[in-house]
Amino acid sequence: MTTLAIIGGGLVGRSLIYTLAKEEKNFEKVTLFSSDKITSPCSLNSTAIAALRGITKGHSPLGDQLVDGFDFFSRHIEEARPLGVEKIIQYNGATEKLDQFKLRYPSGEFSNRFLKEALFLATENAFMIDPKTYLTWLLDRTKSFKTFPIHEVDDLVIEVVEGERIQLKTLHGKSFLFDKVIFTAGSYNRFWKELHPDSKLKSSKPSQGSYLEFQNLSWEMDSFSLTIDGDNVIWNKPFQRLYVGSTTSESLHELPPLKELEAIYHKLHSRLSFELPKFQEGLLKVGLREKAQKREPYLLKKENLIFFGGLYKNAFTLSMKMARDLSHQYL
Ligand SMILES: Cc1cc2nc3c(=O)[nH]c(=O)nc-3n(C[C@H](O)[C@H](O)[C@H](O)COP(=O)(O)OP(=O)(O)OC[C@H]3O[C@@H](n4cnc5c(N)ncnc54)[C@H](O)[C@@H]3O)c2cc1C
Repeated sequence: MTTLAIIGGGLVGRSLIYTLAKEEKNFEKVTLFSSDKITSPCSLNSTAIAALRGITKGHSPLGDQLVDGFDFFSRHIEEARPLGVEKIIQYNGATEKLDQFKLRYPSGEFSNRFLKEALFLATENAFMIDPKTYLTWLLDRTKSFKTFPIHEVDDLVIEVVEGERIQLKTLHGKSFLFDKVIFTAGSYNRFWKELHPDSKLKSSKPSQGSYLEFQNLSWEMDSFSLTIDGDNVIWNKPFQRLYVGSTTSESLHELPPLKELEAIYHKLHSRLSFELPKFQEGLLKVGLREKAQKREPYLLKKENLIFFGGLYKNAFTLSMKMARDLSHQYL
C-alpha cells in the first residue's frame, strides 16, 4: 500500500484529505504537513464567500469550471451540512463600466438597498463561510472516518529529494520517505516550481487581499455580502463580524496596506445607508492568494509529485470539486 504526504493544511489540503477519507481511498499512511509559523495560511485571512458573480456556462473553460465547482460545493453543503457555512444573498453593484456589468447581470436593477443613492444592483444565491470553523470541521470529519490513516505533522517541509521514494526534510531536522507527495501549500507552492516544468506553476505569484474585521457587533440585519466596484462589505450575523476590504495592490508580503484600506473604507462609508463602525476599531487582516497563469487553477502531475493550487479568488467554490477530480485522476 502507498504512503502519501500532503504539504499544506489550508482549505485545499483539508478539502483533499476529507475527500480521500470520504471516498475510502486505500493508503498505508497519509501525512499532512502544515506549519503556520512562517507561512501564514491565506484560508484563515479570507472573507470567504462562495458565489458565481454572474458567471454562466458557455463563455470560457474557467467559467464552466467555476459553475461546476459551485454546483459541486452546493451539493456538498446540502449533503454534509458542515459547520461554519451559511446560505446568503450576494449583492453585486457597479458604478463603473456599467454596460459590461449589465451584460453580466441581466437581471439587475437600480435599487437603493443598503445605499444612500440607488445603484445598479444584482443579487444571487451564495454561501458565507467562517473559515476557521469550516477548516476545523473538515479535519474533524476526516478523523471521524476511523479507517483513514491520517497523521498530522506540525513542521515546515524545507527540502524535497526525488528518488524511488520521495524524501521530505523539515525545519525541525526530521526526514520522512513517501511514495507520493501532493503540494497544497497555497501561494507557497511557488517555492517548489523547480520540481515541475509547467508554466502555470512557473508563473504563479502571490496576490494580496486585505480587510478590516470588526468583531462582536450586535446588528439585527441578516447576513449579507455586498460588492461595489470590487470593494466588499460582508456581515456575518452568526459570528457577529463585519468585514470591509478588497484586493490590495501591495504585493509579495503581508504588511497591511493601511492607506488603501482607508480609501476603500471611506468610499464604502460614503455610499452605505447604514453606519460602519469606526475605522480604528477594525482589526487589519492580510492574506496572500496564489494567482497562477490566466488566473487558472491547476492540477499537475510529474511521476509521484502532484501540484494542486492556483485557486485564487475562487478557492471556496472550487476546492471540493478539484479535490474529487484529483482523487479520481491521479490516485
Ligand atoms: C482578503 C481575502 C479575501 C478572499 N476572499 C475569498 C472569497 O470570498 N472566496 C474565495 O473562494 N476565496 C477567497 N479568497 C482566496 C482564498 O482564501 C484562498 O485562495 C484560499 O484560502 C487558499 O487556500 P490554500 O489551501 O490553497 O492556501 P493556504 O490557506 O495559504 O494554505 C496553505 C498552507 O500550507 C502551509 N505551508 C506552506 N508551505 C509549507 C511547507 N513547506 N510545509 C508545511 N506547510 C506549508 C501554510 O502554512 C498554510 O497553512 C480570499 C483571500 C483573501 C486574502
